[in-house]
Amino acid sequence: MSVEVHLQHTTKRFGDVVALNDVSLDIARGELFFLLGPSGCGKTTCLRTIAGFYQPDSGQLLFDDRLMNGVPPHRRNTGMVFQNYALWPHMTVYQNVEYGLNVRRIDANEKKMRVMEALEIVQMRAYADRTSNQLSGGQQQRVALARALVIQPDVLLLDEPLSNLDAKLRLEMRREIKRIHSEAGITSVYVTHDQTEALSLADRMAVMNDGEIAQIGAPREVYNMPSNRFVAGFIGETNFIDGKFVGGNGREGVVETPIGRIYSSVISDKHDPEVAVSCSIRPEAIHINDTPIQDAPNQFAAKITSLTYLGNIEEYMLQLDQGIELKAVLHNPGQEAREPGRDVVIDVRPRDVVVLPADQPTTSFNAS
Ligand code: ATP
Repeated sequence: MSVEVHLQHTTKRFGDVVALNDVSLDIARGELFFLLGPSGCGKTTCLRTIAGFYQPDSGQLLFDDRLMNGVPPHRRNTGMVFQNYALWPHMTVYQNVEYGLNVRRIDANEKKMRVMEALEIVQMRAYADRTSNQLSGGQQQRVALARALVIQPDVLLLDEPLSNLDAKLRLEMRREIKRIHSEAGITSVYVTHDQTEALSLADRMAVMNDGEIAQIGAPREVYNMPSNRFVAGFIGETNFIDGKFVGGNGREGVVETPIGRIYSSVISDKHDPEVAVSCSIRPEAIHINDTPIQDAPNQFAAKITSLTYLGNIEEYMLQLDQGIELKAVLHNPGQEAREPGRDVVIDVRPRDVVVLPADQPTTSFNAS
């Protein structure tokens, strides 16, 4: 039976290091929830706190409305999948999956049925009699998933489960995890530092930084509406142009920058006038034109300084006034490249400019 997971003002310290700093999050029943962030940001500590391997110094952990602080890991009914699979190498696939059930008093027939069901869901039934050291990395990860699922966990915890696989297998296993999650419907918490894994799989994600939650949201929301510079820079690539918020005209916010006024329709009137802000503009949102476009807002003269052709995309570095350098990405480039040294005019739609506070946030927010 899948549960909701709630962390309320959870803090965990290791000596002087504050690995989790007043973290609050609410994970819905059946949700595939990601913890994403750079190395050392606290995501594994968060996962291990949910599993019960760590006790928080303060704050509460609830599964539905049951307080889990102090409940030992084996009483939490969580299934865990590790990066290194953690299978018994000389046991068969069947024995590895059965292992989790041996400590529970379950009769032999039901045990067999559940092991075969778990192997079926990860499509490893045909390998039941192989020892796990005779399996590929992807197959071992499937067995590790089956072993976690067989106990019918309330919460499935996945700690960088795909990082030991090569790029092609990672893609295949991503699809598999999505399928298995939607079939099993178990509340799942997935730790990764790989943003494409999170963007492609998550129902929602928490982006963490330095023990705190920088933003929580659905992938599209986090990518298109980052709440701060850290999230904008960590999820995908972006350009920042610093400036001063000079107010809104009702529909749009206006930012005075060294290259001129920039109009944004994403976050208007939220900042106080005269306050320092930063405009975040994704490389793919910058359009390169040979001549000015009539009536288009956010047009600036630029010079191409370098060009990298990558087949499906082309990356340009652009020099603007006042030493401002921007990166632009052109999808589906044609035969003709615009060579370095060329003068161009760039434009950006106001809906592609996100106005952010200039400083990094210091507290968690946007927990929904
Ligand atoms: P990674 O992606 O590298 O695994 P992470 O985001 O999972 O990083 P954590 O492992 O949660 O980060 O670590 C958060 C902070 O707590 C780090 O500064 C780390 O050094 C520290 N830390 C984690 N576990 C311990 C421990 N058992 N003892 C001491 N410090 C720890």
